[in-house]
Amino acid sequence: MGGGVTGPARTALVCGAGGFIGHHLVRRLVRDGVRVRAVDRKRPEFSDSPAHEFVIADLRDPAAVRRAVDRPFDEVYQLAAEMGGAGYIFTGDHDAAVMHASALINLNVLDACRAAGARRVFFSSSACVYPLFNQLDPDNPNCAESSAYPAAPDSEYGWEKLFAERTYLAFARNHAMTCRIARYHNVFGPEGTWRGGREKAPAALCRKVAQAPDGGEVEIWGDGAQTRSFLYIDECLEGTLRLMRSDVDEVLNIGSDEMVSIDALAHRIARIAGKSISLRHVPGPTGVRGRRSDNRLIREKLGWAPSASLQAGLESTYAWIAAQVARER
Ligand code: NAD
Repeated sequence: MGGGVTGPARTALVCGAGGFIGHHLVRRLVRDGVRVRAVDRKRPEFSDSPAHEFVIADLRDPAAVRRAVDRPFDEVYQLAAEMGGAGYIFTGDHDAAVMHASALINLNVLDACRAAGARRVFFSSSACVYPLFNQLDPDNPNCAESSAYPAAPDSEYGWEKLFAERTYLAFARNHAMTCRIARYHNVFGPEGTWRGGREKAPAALCRKVAQAPDGGEVEIWGDGAQTRSFLYIDECLEGTLRLMRSDVDEVLNIGSDEMVSIDALAHRIARIAGKSISLRHVPGPTGVRGRRSDNRLIREKLGWAPSASLQAGLESTYAWIAAQVARER
């Protein structure tokens, strides 16, 4: 998927390149021979960015975004968002920041892409757009793409993503832009946030298991019966590039369809760590009861869907987080 041996290299702008997925995406694009400008308000936390250029900018500022999008990039990936795990998104304490910041970023990036004539724009939406009423049964959630309407997300984060999706689709319609939209489902892997309040369940559980002694106890938010599917970062990137370079205008899920309860996830991680662990259930923000990516549409449209097992991804993620925990000691 590189720029080819002849002709100029493909050019890409990655917004949110200091974050978990953005940093991995920059790495993948550079490895594929793409010339990358990265933008974020911060650099990646755990390793240097291989981007050809790294611009520090606040994407809420329209002038800063215009400067970053100053040419017709072949590909613009818009991943920047005010973001976090359940402890950040579902408490309600950050709702205004989540909606205000992310909406501004998306409006600014779209407008600048239109003005600069960006050839393709990718937006990372989320499984959090799906209605609460379809995710009450942990064994049988409905996350088919078409089920997003009538809309009833369970967080302001999800509502902002729906607003943004519609804005990308409207720009595509009215300004003849090529926009690609994915709804990511719980992406995890090495170099993801693993502490501090914005980490997601797999990283939080890897940290808790790594910190617990053998025979120790790990805290789980809620009753632990809530289910999710988790997508390893490499497959998230593969799906993102396949969708970006396809002819598919529709919004697609990019997620795993291997569903696991949070309790089962904790036990799996403990087995990987070689520890015997007991679980203590405590009150905490848990989000919907059940969620799993429905991969029928992506399979039909792209002839591809994520297929790697959760186990392999957990092994490499646990190894990375255990090393971070050990370094802190
Ligand atoms: P992340 O928080 O690690 O990365 C987001 C990046 O955006 C951060 O580096 C942050 O500094 C940057 N950013 C935020 N506000 C900014 C601003 N005003 N100016 C400049 N940069 C700013 O998140 P991630 O996990 O890498 O997620 C990337 C995208 O994918 C987000 O849009 C997120 O909503 C979406 N998504 C992620 C998941 C997941 O499981 N990780 C699931 C669904 C959707």
